[in-house]
Amino acid sequence: MASNYPQETFTTTTILPGSLIHQRREAVAANTLLCQLDILKKTGRYDCFNLKWHPVYSRAPEVWPVPDHLFWDSDVAKWIEGACYLLHDHPHPKIDASIHELVGLIRSAQQPDGYLNLHYIMVEPGKRFTNLRDMHELYNAGHMIEAALAHQHLYKTDMLMEPILKYVDLLHKTFGPAEDQIHGYPGHPEIELALLRLYHRTQDPKHLELASYFINERGNPTGVNGEHYYDFELRARGDDPYKRPSYHTEVGGCKWYYSAHKPITEQETVEGHSVRAMYLLTAAADLTRVSSDKASGELRKATYRLWNNMTQRKMYVTGGIGAVKQYEGFGRDFFLPQGTDEGGCYAETCASIGVMMLAQRILQYDLDSRYSDVMELCLYNAVLTAMSHDGTAFTYVNQLASSDADPAKRSDWFTVACCPPNMLRLLGSIGGYIYSDNTSDGSTSVDVHLYIPSKHTFTVDSQERTLAQESNYPWNGTIRFTLDGPPDNALSLRLRIPAFAANTWHLDPPLPQTQPLKGYLHVPSSYLTTTRSFTLSLPTTPRLISPHPYATNAHTLTLARGPIIYCVEDVDNAWVTDHFKSVRLDPVCLEHVHEDDVHDQGTGERYTALTVVKGARMCDVEAVERKMAGLPFCEVPRDNRHAMANGVNGTHSAGDSTADSEETKVIEELRFVPFYFRANRGGKGHSRVGFARAD
Ligand SMILES: [Zn+2]
Repeated sequence: MASNYPQETFTTTTILPGSLIHQRREAVAANTLLCQLDILKKTGRYDCFNLKWHPVYSRAPEVWPVPDHLFWDSDVAKWIEGACYLLHDHPHPKIDASIHELVGLIRSAQQPDGYLNLHYIMVEPGKRFTNLRDMHELYNAGHMIEAALAHQHLYKTDMLMEPILKYVDLLHKTFGPAEDQIHGYPGHPEIELALLRLYHRTQDPKHLELASYFINERGNPTGVNGEHYYDFELRARGDDPYKRPSYHTEVGGCKWYYSAHKPITEQETVEGHSVRAMYLLTAAADLTRVSSDKASGELRKATYRLWNNMTQRKMYVTGGIGAVKQYEGFGRDFFLPQGTDEGGCYAETCASIGVMMLAQRILQYDLDSRYSDVMELCLYNAVLTAMSHDGTAFTYVNQLASSDADPAKRSDWFTVACCPPNMLRLLGSIGGYIYSDNTSDGSTSVDVHLYIPSKHTFTVDSQERTLAQESNYPWNGTIRFTLDGPPDNALSLRLRIPAFAANTWHLDPPLPQTQPLKGYLHVPSSYLTTTRSFTLSLPTTPRLISPHPYATNAHTLTLARGPIIYCVEDVDNAWVTDHFKSVRLDPVCLEHVHEDDVHDQGTGERYTALTVVKGARMCDVEAVERKMAGLPFCEVPRDNRHAMANGVNGTHSAGDSTADSEETKVIEELRFVPFYFRANRGGKGHSRVGFARAD
């Protein structure tokens, strides 16, 4: 079964100029790499592997027991990894020199036995592997492995791979089922997916064995002497079980926070920290692709079950996951408030990148558009919104509604800086998410998951071929495909038909047999031998989305067009004073949406803006409060339904016999921009995706 790791295959795809994704990838290559290099230097991360004392090592942590420098290894590793992806087609002497210098420092920091972790070398020597649950030692190791893979891929040398393999050897000796080994696994998964990628490169069975051990041992209630490993290690290091980190909501180790409350195969719902859960499931899905035993079948079933629970009950319309800030994770089913002062909303950038990684893994063995639709949803919304148009400022949390406490604003960096370099890694390797190649018995099938203008090179029967897709997607859903090279009858394509175009797509010239299978349209070799160029049309008419009836924000409407989710901002709607909480949207607004192709002068961005010219109203909160006479509720007039229907076109005032319980004013024009574009043009930081429904 093809591996198709995007971090490997992206080099076979060139993103063509002119598209949104091309612009963002250019921005990270031109700006993000250098900005982040500068920050790595200013903060001490760049030099940390010279093993000199840094004041941060003695600082009290912002979040006990996690020292502020605990992720420095991974910050450096992720930057190296992202840089190596971008250097493939953006040579840059300064970045190149920095990578070489960092690799030299990392090599020099390695301990004689192969150990390599800043905190336990510098701050707590002698205590390595005593707190796998919270101290991110193996998480950092995972990112080091991924950096080494990217480095070796680019430079064709083992300068980074060599020390990392030595470290992995030490880990393989240290962890496992034997009596003299540690029966533990990381609190923050990452190394598992990295080891599987490493195994693909090295074919060393030790790498697969260690990944399998970490995945399958996780959550074992009797892992060590009849105890859960995390209970065992807590007692072994003498910690007070009643002293708990702020991200634990209960005593007893809060194992669900780590997705370790049960073995993965027994987990019914996706729980806890959303990034951890996604990295873990990405590895679990990949392991089931590599191995085909009975245990792997159970693991695959669990992966499907947890994916379904997440996408059906715990995902925002933007593709964001994780509603609860305290533990950066999933709330209970359907708990999806939009912002801090409405009950919370976290939607961390890394979590949605994790959803993309997981979807991409599942697609390698289950070609179903429900995975690629979600992958696209995350990319264009929850993920792209996390970076400014020029790649210099970021959001960590991607709320659907702003508040005074959390306005829609960006920062250049964070103390825990997982998200910004994750954007580098993702956009650096984004070409690998667009296509998958599958070869068997001399024939090749190319799956097209994403519509991003690009040229993909692949082989059919050892002959090189290219497939180009050109479009103005996501603004226009007409996509022109062209195959290069002589026709052959061993090539077929499978094109994703997004759910938003399930009943409206068409192919020109048409296919005799045109029913997609699980959301993918099979274009057979008989068609392709005679048709070397064809057009897929996916109409992108504006539409409304409403959440599940049980959802916290169930009675809301969100405007979408193609894969793009829209929001409003105060920059375009200057009258707003309450983060658009009082705005009401009637479904009839869909018949009154104007589309405008905008070229924003300040940012240079081009996008389709939407304006609702009828069907938007604003509740007169003060008038309603007067009616309530000091209470937080009031009675609804008997003829309310009639009044609500009239309210779309009229303004009511208190005392009017037909007035509803909500005094409303018509909004003449409610202007929307893509959610990913928020917080790029200044303003007060008022923004919202979902609006209370007025019907
Ligand atoms: Zn993050």
